[in-house]
Amino acid sequence: MAFSRVSTPSDNDFSQGSNNVERTLILIKPDAMARGLAGTVLSRFEAKGLKIAGIKMIQLDEALLKAHYSHLADKPFFPTICEFMNRTPVIALCLEGLEAVEVCRSLCGVTNSRKAAPGTIRGDLGMSMQANLVHASDSVETAKAEVARFFSDAELFGYEQPVINFLYASDERQ
Ligand code: ADP
Repeated sequence: MAFSRVSTPSDNDFSQGSNNVERTLILIKPDAMARGLAGTVLSRFEAKGLKIAGIKMIQLDEALLKAHYSHLADKPFFPTICEFMNRTPVIALCLEGLEAVEVCRSLCGVTNSRKAAPGTIRGDLGMSMQANLVHASDSVETAKAEVARFFSDAELFGYEQPVINFLYASDERQ
């Protein structure tokens, strides 16, 4: 029996039908990797109800970091971010759900972990502005570009997730 690597979207894969379903890029940063918190960070997104459309471990090289942080290229802390983000491999995730971009940003909390609200990933787990555990795309447009930067089409998966029928109300699944 042959298995196809990329599963076929089904009625339960509501990403195929809903306009508000978004995909966003998450990076589990080197501080989370080094502190043994990768699973904890991932589980916060999973428990919320985000679906994993893509996941991989990657060592960020200079070209990727320059592209990813191009909006910060003129900041004095730019070299230290690149050094920090290159210290260990990171885990890249493409997460999917209704309004996933905003939902993931809220889950992460504000940039400075010391000021991030309790209940957020940064607020619960971090003490640093730079070593703030996680990256999440900041807009729908950015998310599209960042997902495409980190994942090829073949690395993104549509698959059945029956829990969708309990995670969202029926009118939210249309
Ligand atoms: P966010 O990740 O919350 O969207 P930014 O896009 O502004 O924040 O910055 C990207 C990353 O650069 C931050 O997550 C953080 O790791 C780092 N960073 C931002 N501002 C500073 C700063 N003033 N000093 C050191 N590192 C910073």
